Amino acid sequence: MKQSLYNVETYDNLKVYEAVCKIMADQNVAQDLRPDMKVVIKPNLIMGKNPSHPTTTHPTVIRAVAKWLHEQGVDNVILAESSGGLYDHNAMRNVYHQCKVDELTDVLTLNDNFEATHVHSPEGFKCHSFHLINPIVEADYIINICKLKTHAMTMYSGGIKNLFGTIPGLEKPQMHYMFPNLHDFSNMLVELSQVVKPDLTIIDAIDAMEGNGPTGGDSHPLHMLLGARDHYTQDWFAAGLMKIEPMDVEMIKIAKEKGLVHEDEIELLGDEIPDNLTAFKIPDAAQVDFSSHVPGFLRKPFLAIAKKLFRSYPAVDKSKCVGCAKCAESCPAHIIKIENKKAIFTKKGCISCFCCQEMCPMKAIYVKKRF
Ligand code: SF4
Ligand code: SF4
Repeated sequence: MKQSLYNVETYDNLKVYEAVCKIMADQNVAQDLRPDMKVVIKPNLIMGKNPSHPTTTHPTVIRAVAKWLHEQGVDNVILAESSGGLYDHNAMRNVYHQCKVDELTDVLTLNDNFEATHVHSPEGFKCHSFHLINPIVEADYIINICKLKTHAMTMYSGGIKNLFGTIPGLEKPQMHYMFPNLHDFSNMLVELSQVVKPDLTIIDAIDAMEGNGPTGGDSHPLHMLLGARDHYTQDWFAAGLMKIEPMDVEMIKIAKEKGLVHEDEIELLGDEIPDNLTAFKIPDAAQVDFSSHVPGFLRKPFLAIAKKLFRSYPAVDKSKCVGCAKCAESCPAHIIKIENKKAIFTKKGCISCFCCQEMCPMKAIYVKKRF
């Protein structure tokens, strides 16, 4: 498995472009391309946010990839994403604008087809089908460009998790409701990733996010771009760069158990791993599985008690809340009300998915532990 790693200090157009060209050469991408192909770039535009925050894929990285594709003779390059919240023309135009990807129309087309199609999964999958946004279904080639971040529910967000944005708009919170526990949700993410099958995954880790990701955390730059065809093994590798034990990340653990992660076969291309990397702060709500330290026969009762004791819930800092209702819109359990321009939460029915925290533009939602 060829893993590219290039040190890139800042989002300088030329430096980013040079690194992207090296990744494309390492991964032999040019050999896959034909001029008549429809190539879809799937970035992380989880919400409308200025790219100076480490929340979304930086437009400089997207520009470099699209420019490189044009130089290979591929002109049909589409940027497609389903952010949190509504998936329609107005909502996505707003996201495109805030994330500054509407400045890239000289090298790509912004998706404006907001339909979705049911795609059947291979036999044996727990999720028999997925409802996917049309540009992904119709793509000849998919380049997944994610942002390296911590994540309140899944702890880590990279290549696998980025593909959750191929599910249209408010169907994403519904998926949380269908798969309320971390294991089932993570298994769904891995199965989704096996259905979408990106051809290449680039991780924007020039700036990355630690703490209360995927939207409310802080900057923790790694000053690097990563690239690989095998995004499962790359997620293993990238979690290690954040000093997160990959097997503590449920989706990576599941991918490993399915035989999708080949960490022993990593061939590092490009620059060396810097020796001064520091650990990323993990989210307040992250669920760490201590059960591996408990004897097998005690594991089940231990997990049942630990689940209750260490359960996290969202709470609102009313001084920051502006009553925008983004949290209520994204809550799959419909337990958030807006009264007097403030969000009111009830614990009953909460599945601790933290979609509300993810979508709050004011960082007004924090994590309360029961114990
Ligand atoms: S908690 Fe955040 S998302 Fe919810 S209404 Fe207040 S500001 Fe908006
Ligand atoms: S209140 Fe927040 S954490 Fe609880 S179910 Fe709703 S979105 Fe998920």
